Amino acid sequence: SWVLLVIDRDIEELTAMVQRARRAVVFTGAGMSTESGIPDFRSPGGFWTRYKPIEFSAFMSSEEARREAWKRFFAIHENLSAARPGAGHRVISELMRRGHVSHVITQNIDGLHAASGVPPDRIIELHGNGTYAACLGCGKRHELAWARDELELKGRTPACIGCGGIVKSATISFGQAMPEQEMADARAATLNADLFLALGSSLQVFPAAGFPVMAKQNRAQLVIVNREATGLDGLADLVVHAELGDVLSALLARLALTSTN
Ligand code: NAD
Repeated sequence: SWVLLVIDRDIEELTAMVQRARRAVVFTGAGMSTESGIPDFRSPGGFWTRYKPIEFSAFMSSEEARREAWKRFFAIHENLSAARPGAGHRVISELMRRGHVSHVITQNIDGLHAASGVPPDRIIELHGNGTYAACLGCGKRHELAWARDELELKGRTPACIGCGGIVKSATISFGQAMPEQEMADARAATLNADLFLALGSSLQVFPAAGFPVMAKQNRAQLVIVNREATGLDGLADLVVHAELGDVLSALLARLALTSTN
């Protein structure tokens, strides 16, 4: 069909860009993981739109807010812990193995890039990680199973075994400061990038969405792949409005063809 033909030409262009790239940055949003069964942020009726988010300041100041935040977190976590990497995650890991991609910057908290084989030191998690918890005082890591026992068996919100500080899932809440090291790492990877691929993000959440802008200003090529239009489509060298699993699988297939010729 006409649509497939247009997408096909886009895939050809995308393949040529990726093939030339040596330090591409892949930047992913919630759309990367919908094919793994984790709903994205803005899909109607999705978990995330059902509740008003609990602000970080409320979490810090109110025991009741902490209880509610943990309850919601464990409801989401059921879904996260069952998820497996999809075709798109696996293609990204393969592009890195082939030397085209230097880093993955992700807004996702699901840990699926690591699960697909991307080395942990190449993954920059801007919004934290939902597969464990951490003390807000001393930073000590705590396991979720322990936090759950504290809440459900002992009836108390988790406090740090080391320093007594407040323990929270290792994710970044609304109103919470962005992680300094990750922001610095993301900036360094972006400024070093020869190609920047923004995949499955509405590019509306800042400061995360500032990285594609930074890449483009630094003269990297910018590609956006998303099911629907994003806030930054006008800035990109190539925009593909299609399903990520399809686009990335087609990219890898074509890359494999052109590399053996
Ligand atoms: P978003 O929900 O704002 O945007 C996701 C975009 O992906 C949407 O524009 C949607 O149309 C598109 N999309 C969905 N499935 C797709 C597919 N299969 N192929 C192509 N496009 C697809 O997500 P965001 O920009 O990441 O911002 C949401 C915030 O919520 C993030 O900060 C993130 O931390 C958090 N969040 C994380 C997860 C996760 O860890 N998997 C899930 C939901 C929300």
